[in-house]
Amino acid sequence: MSLIVQKYGGTSVAHAERIKDVARRIARSRDRGDQLVVVVSAMGDATDDLIKLAKQVSSGPDNRELDLLLSTGEIVSATLLTMALQEMGYPAISLTGAQAGIRTDSDFTRARILEIEVDRLRKELDQGKTVIVAGFQGITNEEEITTLGRGGSDTTAVALAAALGAKVCERYTDTEGIFSADPRIVPDAVRLDEISYDEMLELATYGTKVMHPRAIELGELYNIPILVASSFTDSPGTLIHGGACMEVRNKVRNVAYDLDVAKVSVMGVPDRPGIAAALFEALAKAGVSVDTIVQNAGIGSLADLTFTVTRGQLAKALEVIKPLVAQMGAKEIVSDARLGKVSIIGTGMSNTPGFAARMFRTLAEKGVNIQLITTSEIRITCIIDEAQVKEAVRALHKAFEVEIKE
Ligand code: ASP
Ligand code: MG
Repeated sequence: MSLIVQKYGGTSVAHAERIKDVARRIARSRDRGDQLVVVVSAMGDATDDLIKLAKQVSSGPDNRELDLLLSTGEIVSATLLTMALQEMGYPAISLTGAQAGIRTDSDFTRARILEIEVDRLRKELDQGKTVIVAGFQGITNEEEITTLGRGGSDTTAVALAAALGAKVCERYTDTEGIFSADPRIVPDAVRLDEISYDEMLELATYGTKVMHPRAIELGELYNIPILVASSFTDSPGTLIHGGACMEVRNKVRNVAYDLDVAKVSVMGVPDRPGIAAALFEALAKAGVSVDTIVQNAGIGSLADLTFTVTRGQLAKALEVIKPLVAQMGAKEIVSDARLGKVSIIGTGMSNTPGFAARMFRTLAEKGVNIQLITTSEIRITCIIDEAQVKEAVRALHKAFEVEIKE
Protein backbone atom coordinates (compact mmCIF):
# COMPACT_ATOMS: atom_id res chain seq x y z
CA MET A 1 0.00 0.00 0.00
CA SER A 2 1.40 3.39 -0.92
CA LEU A 3 0.29 6.88 -0.12
CA ILE A 4 -0.51 8.92 -3.20
CA VAL A 5 -1.56 12.56 -3.49
CA GLN A 6 -3.82 13.32 -6.45
CA LYS A 7 -4.84 16.76 -7.63
CA TYR A 8 -7.74 17.55 -9.94
CA GLY A 9 -7.91 20.89 -11.74
CA GLY A 10 -10.94 23.10 -12.26
CA THR A 11 -12.04 21.59 -15.60
CA SER A 12 -11.92 18.08 -14.13
CA VAL A 13 -14.51 19.06 -11.52
CA ALA A 14 -16.39 21.64 -13.61
CA HIS A 15 -19.86 20.15 -13.04
CA ALA A 16 -21.66 17.36 -11.20
CA GLU A 17 -21.08 14.67 -13.86
CA ARG A 18 -17.37 15.40 -13.97
CA ILE A 19 -17.18 15.30 -10.20
CA LYS A 20 -18.72 11.83 -10.35
CA ASP A 21 -16.17 10.82 -13.00
CA VAL A 22 -13.37 11.95 -10.71
CA ALA A 23 -14.95 10.00 -7.85
CA ARG A 24 -14.85 6.89 -10.06
CA ARG A 25 -11.16 7.43 -10.82
CA ILE A 26 -10.45 7.82 -7.12
CA ALA A 27 -12.40 4.65 -6.41
CA ARG A 28 -10.22 2.77 -8.91
CA SER A 29 -7.08 3.94 -7.12
CA ARG A 30 -8.58 2.89 -3.81
CA ASP A 31 -9.43 -0.52 -5.23
CA ARG A 32 -5.74 -0.92 -6.04
CA GLY A 33 -5.14 -0.55 -2.32
CA ASP A 34 -3.52 2.88 -2.22
CA GLN A 35 -4.08 5.46 0.49
CA LEU A 36 -5.21 8.70 -1.08
CA VAL A 37 -5.14 12.38 -0.30
CA VAL A 38 -6.92 14.32 -3.05
CA VAL A 39 -6.55 18.05 -3.64
CA VAL A 40 -9.13 19.88 -5.73
CA SER A 41 -9.33 23.23 -7.49
CA ALA A 42 -12.53 25.25 -7.60
CA MET A 43 -15.15 24.13 -10.14
CA GLY A 44 -14.52 25.51 -13.64
CA ASP A 45 -14.29 29.29 -13.58
CA ALA A 46 -15.57 29.58 -10.02
CA THR A 47 -12.57 31.59 -8.82
CA ASP A 48 -12.88 34.08 -11.69
CA ASP A 49 -16.59 34.41 -10.99
CA LEU A 50 -15.96 35.14 -7.31
CA ILE A 51 -13.39 37.78 -8.21
CA LYS A 52 -15.90 39.37 -10.60
CA LEU A 53 -18.50 39.46 -7.86
CA ALA A 54 -16.09 41.08 -5.44
CA LYS A 55 -15.32 43.75 -8.02
CA GLN A 56 -19.03 44.44 -8.45
CA VAL A 57 -19.40 45.42 -4.83
CA SER A 58 -16.04 47.06 -4.26
CA SER A 59 -13.56 49.03 -6.37
CA GLY A 60 -10.65 47.63 -4.38
CA PRO A 61 -11.67 44.59 -2.36
CA ASP A 62 -9.78 44.06 0.86
CA ASN A 63 -7.29 41.22 0.47
CA ARG A 64 -8.26 39.51 3.71
CA GLU A 65 -11.90 39.41 2.64
CA LEU A 66 -10.96 38.40 -0.88
CA ASP A 67 -9.00 35.40 0.38
CA LEU A 68 -11.79 34.25 2.64
CA LEU A 69 -14.17 34.59 -0.31
CA LEU A 70 -11.94 32.76 -2.81
CA SER A 71 -11.25 29.93 -0.37
CA THR A 72 -14.91 28.97 -0.64
CA GLY A 73 -14.50 27.92 -4.30
CA GLU A 74 -12.31 24.96 -3.40
CA ILE A 75 -14.48 24.07 -0.41
CA VAL A 76 -17.45 23.62 -2.74
CA SER A 77 -15.63 21.16 -5.00
CA ALA A 78 -14.03 19.29 -2.07
CA THR A 79 -17.31 18.70 -0.29
CA LEU A 80 -19.16 17.67 -3.47
CA LEU A 81 -16.44 15.22 -4.43
CA THR A 82 -16.55 13.75 -0.93
CA MET A 83 -20.31 13.28 -1.13
CA ALA A 84 -19.96 11.58 -4.53
CA LEU A 85 -17.41 9.15 -3.08
CA GLN A 86 -19.53 8.42 -0.04
CA GLU A 87 -22.46 7.78 -2.37
CA MET A 88 -20.38 5.08 -4.07
CA GLY A 89 -19.68 3.51 -0.70
CA TYR A 90 -16.14 4.78 -0.30
CA PRO A 91 -15.33 6.36 3.08
CA ALA A 92 -14.14 9.92 2.57
CA ILE A 93 -13.92 13.26 4.35
CA SER A 94 -13.30 16.77 3.07
CA LEU A 95 -11.03 19.21 4.86
CA THR A 96 -10.40 22.89 4.27
CA GLY A 97 -6.76 23.90 3.98
CA ALA A 98 -6.89 25.06 7.58
CA GLN A 99 -8.37 21.77 8.80
CA ALA A 100 -5.68 19.94 6.87
CA GLY A 101 -3.06 21.80 8.94
CA ILE A 102 -1.68 24.01 6.19
CA ARG A 103 -0.03 26.97 7.92
CA THR A 104 0.93 29.97 5.81
CA ASP A 105 2.41 33.42 6.24
CA SER A 106 0.02 36.40 6.25
CA ASP A 107 0.66 37.61 2.72
CA PHE A 108 -2.97 37.58 1.59
CA THR A 109 -3.66 36.58 -2.05
CA ARG A 110 -0.18 35.07 -2.43
CA ALA A 111 0.63 33.41 0.87
CA ARG A 112 3.44 30.92 1.22
CA ILE A 113 3.15 27.65 3.07
CA LEU A 114 5.25 27.65 6.23
CA GLU A 115 4.50 24.15 7.50
CA ILE A 116 1.88 21.43 7.43
CA GLU A 117 0.71 19.78 10.63
CA VAL A 118 -0.25 16.35 9.37
CA ASP A 119 -1.83 14.82 12.53
CA ARG A 120 -5.42 15.29 11.38
CA LEU A 121 -4.66 14.01 7.88
CA ARG A 122 -2.93 10.95 9.29
CA LYS A 123 -5.79 10.26 11.67
CA GLU A 124 -8.33 10.28 8.83
CA LEU A 125 -6.09 8.17 6.59
CA ASP A 126 -5.56 5.66 9.39
CA GLN A 127 -9.31 5.29 9.62
CA GLY A 128 -9.33 4.20 6.00
CA LYS A 129 -10.79 7.37 4.57
CA THR A 130 -9.89 9.16 1.38
CA VAL A 131 -9.12 12.71 2.43
CA ILE A 132 -10.25 15.44 0.03
CA VAL A 133 -8.45 18.72 0.70
CA ALA A 134 -9.58 22.10 -0.60
CA GLY A 135 -6.60 23.39 -2.59
CA PHE A 136 -5.09 26.87 -2.83
CA GLN A 137 -5.59 27.87 0.81
CA GLY A 138 -4.21 27.79 4.31
CA ILE A 139 -4.41 29.52 7.66
CA THR A 140 -2.06 31.90 9.45
CA ASN A 141 -0.99 31.66 13.07
CA GLU A 142 -3.55 34.41 13.73
CA GLU A 143 -6.25 32.07 12.38
CA GLU A 144 -6.79 34.07 9.20
CA ILE A 145 -7.62 32.23 5.97
CA THR A 146 -5.19 32.88 3.12
CA THR A 147 -4.87 31.82 -0.50
CA LEU A 148 -1.67 30.86 -2.28
CA GLY A 149 -2.03 32.83 -5.53
CA ARG A 150 -3.75 31.85 -8.78
CA GLY A 151 -3.15 28.24 -9.71
CA GLY A 152 -2.07 27.56 -6.14
CA SER A 153 -3.76 24.17 -5.79
CA ASP A 154 -0.77 22.59 -7.51
CA THR A 155 1.37 23.92 -4.71
CA THR A 156 -1.03 22.56 -2.09
CA ALA A 157 -0.81 19.11 -3.66
CA VAL A 158 2.97 18.94 -3.89
CA ALA A 159 3.38 20.41 -0.39
CA LEU A 160 1.02 17.76 1.04
CA ALA A 161 2.90 15.04 -0.83
CA ALA A 162 6.15 16.30 0.70
CA ALA A 163 4.75 16.60 4.22
CA LEU A 164 3.21 13.13 4.12
CA GLY A 165 6.13 11.48 2.35
CA ALA A 166 3.87 10.39 -0.51
CA LYS A 167 5.26 8.17 -3.26
CA VAL A 168 4.04 10.43 -6.03
CA CYS A 169 1.89 13.48 -6.65
CA GLU A 170 -0.49 12.83 -9.56
CA ARG A 171 -1.84 15.97 -11.12
CA TYR A 172 -4.85 15.58 -13.39
CA THR A 173 -6.20 18.20 -15.79
CA ASP A 174 -7.62 18.25 -19.29
CA THR A 175 -4.25 17.80 -21.02
CA GLU A 176 -2.54 14.49 -21.58
CA GLY A 177 0.83 15.54 -20.25
CA ILE A 178 3.77 17.62 -21.36
CA PHE A 179 4.41 17.73 -25.09
CA SER A 180 7.52 18.50 -27.12
CA ALA A 181 5.64 21.62 -28.28
CA ASP A 182 2.10 22.95 -28.14
CA PRO A 183 0.11 20.37 -30.19
CA ARG A 184 -2.30 23.09 -31.31
CA ILE A 185 0.55 24.68 -33.24
CA VAL A 186 2.70 21.66 -34.00
CA PRO A 187 0.39 18.76 -34.89
CA ASP A 188 3.18 16.18 -34.74
CA ALA A 189 4.38 17.22 -31.30
CA VAL A 190 4.89 14.17 -29.09
CA ARG A 191 3.96 13.54 -25.48
CA LEU A 192 7.07 13.22 -23.33
CA ASP A 193 7.15 10.22 -20.99
CA GLU A 194 9.33 12.10 -18.56
CA ILE A 195 10.93 15.47 -18.01
CA SER A 196 13.32 16.79 -15.35
CA TYR A 197 12.32 19.36 -12.73
CA ASP A 198 14.77 21.84 -14.24
CA GLU A 199 13.40 21.47 -17.74
CA MET A 200 9.86 21.71 -16.43
CA LEU A 201 10.67 24.89 -14.50
CA GLU A 202 12.05 26.50 -17.65
CA LEU A 203 8.96 25.38 -19.53
CA ALA A 204 6.57 26.67 -16.88
CA THR A 205 8.36 30.01 -16.94
CA TYR A 206 9.10 30.43 -20.65
CA GLY A 207 6.25 28.53 -22.23
CA THR A 208 2.62 27.79 -21.60
CA LYS A 209 1.73 28.18 -17.98
CA VAL A 210 1.15 24.47 -17.62
CA MET A 211 1.92 24.35 -13.95
CA HIS A 212 2.57 26.61 -11.00
CA PRO A 213 6.38 27.05 -10.90
CA ARG A 214 6.28 27.01 -7.10
CA ALA A 215 4.85 23.50 -7.20
CA ILE A 216 7.70 22.31 -9.42
CA GLU A 217 10.28 23.94 -7.16
CA LEU A 218 8.74 22.22 -4.16
CA GLY A 219 8.74 18.89 -5.99
CA GLU A 220 12.43 19.29 -6.72
CA LEU A 221 13.26 20.38 -3.19
CA TYR A 222 11.55 17.38 -1.59
CA ASN A 223 12.19 15.02 -4.49
CA ILE A 224 8.51 14.25 -5.09
CA PRO A 225 7.86 12.85 -8.57
CA ILE A 226 4.92 14.66 -10.18
CA LEU A 227 2.80 12.87 -12.78
CA VAL A 228 0.98 15.23 -15.15
CA ALA A 229 -1.90 13.42 -16.83
CA SER A 230 -5.45 13.82 -18.08
CA SER A 231 -8.50 13.04 -15.97
CA PHE A 232 -10.45 12.41 -19.16
CA THR A 233 -8.33 9.64 -20.73
CA ASP A 234 -6.08 6.82 -19.63
CA SER A 235 -3.00 8.21 -21.34
CA PRO A 236 0.04 7.54 -19.13
CA GLY A 237 0.96 11.24 -18.90
CA THR A 238 4.37 12.77 -18.22
CA LEU A 239 6.45 12.15 -15.10
CA ILE A 240 8.38 15.15 -13.79
CA HIS A 241 11.25 13.86 -11.72
CA GLY A 242 14.85 14.37 -10.75
CA GLY A 243 16.30 11.01 -11.68
CA ALA A 244 19.71 11.56 -13.13
CA CYS A 245 20.39 10.09 -16.53
CA MET A 246 23.82 8.58 -17.15
CA GLU A 247 23.91 10.17 -20.55
CA VAL A 248 21.32 12.60 -21.71
CA ARG A 249 20.37 11.56 -25.17
CA ASN A 250 17.41 13.78 -25.67
CA LYS A 251 18.97 17.11 -26.22
CA VAL A 252 16.10 19.42 -27.07
CA ARG A 253 13.07 18.32 -25.11
CA ASN A 254 10.72 21.15 -25.78
CA VAL A 255 10.10 24.11 -28.05
CA ALA A 256 8.21 26.67 -25.97
CA TYR A 257 6.66 29.99 -26.78
CA ASP A 258 5.08 32.92 -25.01
CA LEU A 259 3.04 35.60 -26.74
CA ASP A 260 2.82 37.93 -23.79
CA VAL A 261 5.98 39.96 -24.23
CA ALA A 262 6.59 43.71 -24.39
CA LYS A 263 9.98 45.34 -24.72
CA VAL A 264 11.28 48.63 -23.38
CA SER A 265 14.58 50.08 -24.55
CA VAL A 266 16.21 53.06 -22.91
CA MET A 267 18.66 54.50 -25.39
CA GLY A 268 21.73 56.47 -24.50
CA VAL A 269 21.78 56.21 -20.72
CA PRO A 270 24.93 57.45 -18.98
CA ASP A 271 27.35 54.53 -18.57
CA ARG A 272 28.02 54.79 -14.84
CA PRO A 273 27.27 52.87 -11.65
CA GLY A 274 23.79 53.20 -10.16
CA ILE A 275 21.76 53.76 -13.31
CA ALA A 276 20.40 50.22 -13.65
CA ALA A 277 19.89 50.03 -9.89
CA ALA A 278 17.78 53.20 -9.89
CA LEU A 279 15.59 52.05 -12.78
CA PHE A 280 14.98 48.53 -11.55
CA GLU A 281 14.46 49.57 -7.92
CA ALA A 282 11.68 51.87 -9.09
CA LEU A 283 10.13 49.12 -11.23
CA ALA A 284 10.28 46.63 -8.35
CA LYS A 285 8.70 49.12 -6.00
CA ALA A 286 5.83 49.61 -8.43
CA GLY A 287 5.32 45.84 -8.59
CA VAL A 288 6.46 45.50 -12.20
CA SER A 289 8.18 42.20 -12.67
CA VAL A 290 10.90 42.40 -15.25
CA ASP A 291 11.94 39.42 -17.28
CA THR A 292 14.83 39.60 -19.74
CA ILE A 293 17.34 42.39 -19.19
CA VAL A 294 20.06 43.25 -21.67
CA GLN A 295 22.52 46.12 -21.45
CA ASN A 296 25.19 46.64 -24.01
CA ALA A 297 28.58 48.16 -23.40
CA GLY A 298 28.52 51.86 -24.01
CA ILE A 299 29.72 53.67 -27.04
CA GLY A 300 31.60 56.60 -25.64
CA SER A 301 30.01 57.13 -22.26
CA LEU A 302 26.50 56.01 -23.21
CA ALA A 303 24.80 52.61 -23.04
CA ASP A 304 21.51 51.12 -24.20
CA LEU A 305 19.40 49.15 -21.78
CA THR A 306 16.55 46.86 -22.80
CA PHE A 307 14.14 44.82 -20.71
CA THR A 308 10.91 42.94 -21.22
CA VAL A 309 7.72 42.79 -19.20
CA THR A 310 4.29 41.25 -19.79
CA ARG A 311 2.02 43.34 -22.01
CA GLY A 312 -0.28 44.15 -19.14
CA GLN A 313 2.59 45.79 -17.29
CA LEU A 314 3.99 47.86 -20.15
CA ALA A 315 2.04 51.04 -19.41
CA LYS A 316 2.99 50.89 -15.75
CA ALA A 317 6.66 50.26 -16.58
CA LEU A 318 6.78 53.27 -18.91
CA GLU A 319 5.05 55.47 -16.37
CA VAL A 320 7.60 54.50 -13.72
CA ILE A 321 10.75 54.97 -15.76
CA LYS A 322 9.84 58.07 -17.81
CA PRO A 323 10.64 60.64 -15.10
CA LEU A 324 13.80 58.78 -14.09
CA VAL A 325 15.03 58.50 -17.63
CA ALA A 326 14.46 62.22 -18.11
CA GLN A 327 16.49 62.96 -14.99
CA MET A 328 19.31 60.73 -16.17
CA GLY A 329 19.46 62.57 -19.45
CA ALA A 330 18.96 59.45 -21.56
CA LYS A 331 18.20 59.98 -25.24
CA GLU A 332 14.89 58.19 -25.64
CA ILE A 333 12.63 55.33 -24.65
CA VAL A 334 11.40 52.95 -27.33
CA SER A 335 8.78 50.33 -26.59
CA ASP A 336 7.14 47.51 -28.50
CA ALA A 337 4.20 45.47 -27.22
CA ARG A 338 3.94 43.06 -30.13
CA LEU A 339 6.65 40.59 -29.35
CA GLY A 340 6.88 36.96 -28.45
CA LYS A 341 9.43 34.48 -27.18
CA VAL A 342 10.49 31.17 -28.62
CA SER A 343 12.71 28.87 -26.59
CA ILE A 344 14.40 25.53 -26.99
CA ILE A 345 14.77 23.69 -23.70
CA GLY A 346 16.74 20.58 -22.78
CA THR A 347 19.16 19.47 -20.08
CA GLY A 348 21.33 17.78 -22.68
CA MET A 349 22.17 21.08 -24.38
CA SER A 350 24.34 22.25 -21.51
CA ASN A 351 27.54 20.54 -22.55
CA THR A 352 27.02 20.36 -26.26
CA PRO A 353 28.06 23.15 -28.60
CA GLY A 354 26.16 24.18 -31.69
CA PHE A 355 22.59 24.46 -30.47
CA ALA A 356 22.50 28.23 -30.49
CA ALA A 357 23.92 28.38 -33.99
CA ARG A 358 21.36 25.89 -35.28
CA MET A 359 18.53 27.75 -33.63
CA PHE A 360 19.59 31.07 -35.14
CA ARG A 361 20.14 29.52 -38.57
CA THR A 362 16.69 27.92 -38.48
CA LEU A 363 15.10 31.27 -37.66
CA ALA A 364 17.17 33.08 -40.28
CA GLU A 365 16.04 30.66 -42.97
CA LYS A 366 12.45 31.57 -42.12
CA GLY A 367 13.27 35.25 -42.36
CA VAL A 368 12.75 35.77 -38.65
CA ASN A 369 14.64 38.68 -37.17
CA ILE A 370 15.90 38.08 -33.62
CA GLN A 371 15.54 41.10 -31.37
CA LEU A 372 16.96 39.76 -28.11
CA ILE A 373 18.61 36.53 -27.07
CA THR A 374 18.83 35.10 -23.56
CA THR A 375 20.08 31.78 -22.33
CA SER A 376 20.32 29.60 -19.26
CA GLU A 377 22.38 26.44 -19.11
CA ILE A 378 19.50 24.42 -20.49
CA ARG A 379 17.54 26.98 -22.52
CA ILE A 380 18.01 29.38 -25.43
CA THR A 381 15.34 32.02 -25.92
CA CYS A 382 14.89 34.42 -28.83
CA ILE A 383 12.56 37.38 -28.65
CA ILE A 384 10.99 37.99 -32.03
CA ASP A 385 8.02 39.62 -33.71
CA GLU A 386 4.74 38.24 -32.39
CA ALA A 387 3.46 37.54 -35.91
CA GLN A 388 6.32 35.09 -36.57
CA VAL A 389 6.16 33.12 -33.33
CA LYS A 390 4.00 30.23 -34.50
CA GLU A 391 5.96 29.70 -37.68
CA ALA A 392 9.18 29.86 -35.68
CA VAL A 393 7.93 27.20 -33.25
CA ARG A 394 7.05 24.88 -36.12
CA ALA A 395 10.41 25.42 -37.83
CA LEU A 396 12.35 24.82 -34.62
CA HIS A 397 10.36 21.71 -33.76
CA LYS A 398 11.18 20.34 -37.19
CA ALA A 399 14.84 21.29 -36.98
CA PHE A 400 15.33 19.67 -33.59
CA GLU A 401 12.92 16.78 -34.02
CA VAL A 402 15.70 14.24 -34.22
CA GLU A 403 16.81 15.11 -30.75
CA ILE A 404 13.30 15.23 -29.37
CA LYS A 405 12.37 11.80 -30.68
CA GLU A 406 15.71 10.03 -30.22
N1 ASP B 1 -8.97 28.09 -8.03
C1 ASP B 1 -7.72 28.79 -8.01
C2 ASP B 1 -7.48 29.47 -9.34
O1 ASP B 1 -8.30 29.35 -10.23
C3 ASP B 1 -6.58 27.88 -7.64
C4 ASP B 1 -6.35 26.74 -8.57
O2 ASP B 1 -7.15 26.45 -9.42
O3 ASP B 1 -5.30 26.13 -8.44
O4 ASP B 1 -6.51 30.13 -9.49
MG1 MG C 1 -9.02 27.40 -11.40
